[in-house]
Amino acid sequence: MKVLFTGIQPTGDLHIGNYFGAVRNWVRLQHEYISYICVVDLHALVIFNDPKTMPQRIFDMAVGLYACGIDMEKTTLFVQSEVPGHADLTWIFNTVTPLGELERMTQFKDKAQQHRKNVNAGLLDYPVLQAADILLYKGEVVPVGEDQVQHIELTREIARYFNKRYGSTFPECEALLTETPRIMGLDGDQKMSKSKGNTIGLIEDKEEIWKKLSVAKTDPARIRRNDPGTPEKCNIYSYHKLITPETELAEIHQGCSTAAIGCIDCKKILFKNLMAELDPIRNKYHALTAKPKEVHELLAENAKKCTLQAKKTILEVKEKMGLKPVWKI
Ligand code: SF4
Repeated sequence: MKVLFTGIQPTGDLHIGNYFGAVRNWVRLQHEYISYICVVDLHALVIFNDPKTMPQRIFDMAVGLYACGIDMEKTTLFVQSEVPGHADLTWIFNTVTPLGELERMTQFKDKAQQHRKNVNAGLLDYPVLQAADILLYKGEVVPVGEDQVQHIELTREIARYFNKRYGSTFPECEALLTETPRIMGLDGDQKMSKSKGNTIGLIEDKEEIWKKLSVAKTDPARIRRNDPGTPEKCNIYSYHKLITPETELAEIHQGCSTAAIGCIDCKKILFKNLMAELDPIRNKYHALTAKPKEVHELLAENAKKCTLQAKKTILEVKEKMGLKPVWKI
């Protein structure tokens, strides 16, 4: 089986954008690949870090992933900063990565624009750390959304630069594009993101979810109840497509186009289907948070396993670079 590597920032609670855009896919893929999922807390430092909330956010993310169906035995879920090799390999890769490659990254340009007062070196170096994350485990497959494809291409480049200079060491990984790469937020204008305040949280209160859905943007052409709409122009319909069974979906399409169904009824159907998917996740989440020791122990055990693998890779790299311990010369 090939090695799959993916990461997620410890933003706290997962939302449906994370779930339908990525995590649901990881749950499926864990049966086809040797899977590593990393809570990338080192990556999270480049924008803003609140040391007080970080431990809880890491824990919540790990529990959320397990609650979504990440298998505790099949997948190695771990926390990035608990494995020293990530930072080590980043430095080594820094020495083979041309600066120009980093400066042309779209994400760097966007983030530098968004966070003008905090354009730190980590922001520029972000994709190198990402390459180190993947290649430390000799990752071959990386499930990503479209916005990350450029970074995976750079990871391949970095592997090539290293292999050319020091001999064949790293595989050239491939990006595995998820079927639903971009879930829009409730505002219908931007990608769903906690920082944009346009999310539906996986473990959010049902009443709260309905409150948000009931005022969420729909097709603007449906001003009155009798106005027909175009489902493809409606964000609510895009959520239906993620979760609503085909026959019901066809009825909604027909009902919207002929004004036979109103937006509130349409949203009620979405809410019902969404709760059917989220209820088991919410139950599992609460069951796991009730035994934090077990989750912490599992994460520590996985970090140990990853540290062993990381050491192996770092040793191989150092040998190739002539960085042998003096007693070996
Ligand atoms: Fe959107 Fe449904 Fe209203 Fe049509 S009926 S505009 S799909 S919410």
